[in-house]
Amino acid sequence: MSGAGTDRIAPSPGTDGRGRVPRPGVEVLTARDVPLGGPRAMTVRRTLPQRARTLIGAWCFIDHYGPDDVGVTGGMDVAPHPHIGLQTVSWLFSGEIEHRDSLGSHAFVRPGELNLMTGGRGISHTEVSTPGTTVLHGVQLWVALPGEHRDAARDFRHHVPDPVRRDGAVIRVFLGSLAGDTSPVPAFTPLLGAEIVLEPHATAILDTDPAFEHGLLVDQGSIRLDGTLLRAAELGYLGPGHGEVTLVNETDAPARAVLVGGTPFDEEIVMWWNFVGRSHDDIVEAREEWEAGSDRFGHVDGYPGARIPAPALPNATIAPRGNPTRPKGSTR
Ligand code: MN
Repeated sequence: MSGAGTDRIAPSPGTDGRGRVPRPGVEVLTARDVPLGGPRAMTVRRTLPQRARTLIGAWCFIDHYGPDDVGVTGGMDVAPHPHIGLQTVSWLFSGEIEHRDSLGSHAFVRPGELNLMTGGRGISHTEVSTPGTTVLHGVQLWVALPGEHRDAARDFRHHVPDPVRRDGAVIRVFLGSLAGDTSPVPAFTPLLGAEIVLEPHATAILDTDPAFEHGLLVDQGSIRLDGTLLRAAELGYLGPGHGEVTLVNETDAPARAVLVGGTPFDEEIVMWWNFVGRSHDDIVEAREEWEAGSDRFGHVDGYPGARIPAPALPNATIAPRGNPTRPKGSTR
């Protein structure tokens, strides 16, 4: 166990000068560029995990890409590859991705439509941008499954949230509840995932669950989150204890972000390649089974190319990771 919950302070009834509970500040996490590899040149901006933070709720991976001219980058073409212990969430702002998996799912990921795949004990899938896609722009997020559900059966869900208008914001709730809308897609731990578009000069004050920690990934423009300015591609982290968040767009152009949240995930995890386990041995076993063509991951039909071989394991034991008990850079 990481003990990550021990220094998280419950909301106090004291107030600041404006009648609000004083709250710890926003931690700004910047992205690093990661090439996806393979014959094509697509690069993503990764804000989670990083040294200062492994998880936000059960969210354990945030990749942000585009807007990319696929005529230049070649788009996305990810051959069959495995996952364990996690769910993948694909959310697009533009473009279209064709998804196939070993559950037999064949689906298209389109802007404003949630595609959620549960890996559990083992799944494999492919992700390919469609020929009609000219600009590819979106996020891929991973959710760590809690220990009791880490071997969950393969699953695939699609959901198109109705946009909710609130305070100059247009909100699409793809997981959990926000602004009066609740996604019908179930989660294994309390989670929130939503796209928020702010009109120019809009201020949106949104009720949030004080038991949740949150992350706001700014996609387009800049947004002030509870007083802290976040620029495009930055992730603002806010710890538990906040019954509302305030998002301000101070600019003359629309701004867009993805808000994720959840109750602190107080299990340590081992993340390596496409796997989330609990120990180095979990990873070694999954890797061996993928390399051996085990039924654990099934088979993806309809993809013309070869599957992706697992990379070599590091020489050292892969260490479990949790969140730091005191976030780096925290002022409290
Ligand atoms: Mn994948």
